[in-house]
Amino acid sequence: MATIITHPLVPVAAAYLIGRDKIPPRLLVGACIASIIPDLDVIAFRFGISYGDPFGHRGFSHSFTFAALVGLMAVFFKNYFNASSGIIFTMLFISSASHGVLDALTDGGQGVAFFWPFTTERYFFPIRPIEVSPIGLRNFLTPRGMTVLWSEFILIWIPIFLFLAGITVARKKKT
Ligand SMILES: [Zn+2]
Repeated sequence: MATIITHPLVPVAAAYLIGRDKIPPRLLVGACIASIIPDLDVIAFRFGISYGDPFGHRGFSHSFTFAALVGLMAVFFKNYFNASSGIIFTMLFISSASHGVLDALTDGGQGVAFFWPFTTERYFFPIRPIEVSPIGLRNFLTPRGMTVLWSEFILIWIPIFLFLAGITVARKKKT
């Protein structure tokens, strides 16, 4: 995983780009949750399911199929989210799918089963600059945890903010 603090940055950025008026707060909260639920799969370790198993960590829950299912399920709660089906699906799909993408950029653990159930193969990107996050909160408040946060700040937070700032300036110029 990248950290639980960094994954929700993607839906927040997506909401900003799509437009705050189109994304009710409930939908944003739902999307933030969708960006971290793939890591509930660490529970598999408790059941003795190994990391490399399709149902192990970074397995099916990190796939694009899972992200699409999360998006589809959310559409059933259209009234609750109070947004169009297209927006709900897009927000939830991007949020959940981006989780695996960020994980595949980390320098540790095993790859991500992006294309489950079509293949159980695990993938990483060729370049993996992000320090892998320790699993579990306790391991987090350590010098190693701080190194991870710092790497995410430099490699994810700053680029996303620069990107959003660039878009904002470009939009202002147009008007
Ligand atoms: Zn993960």
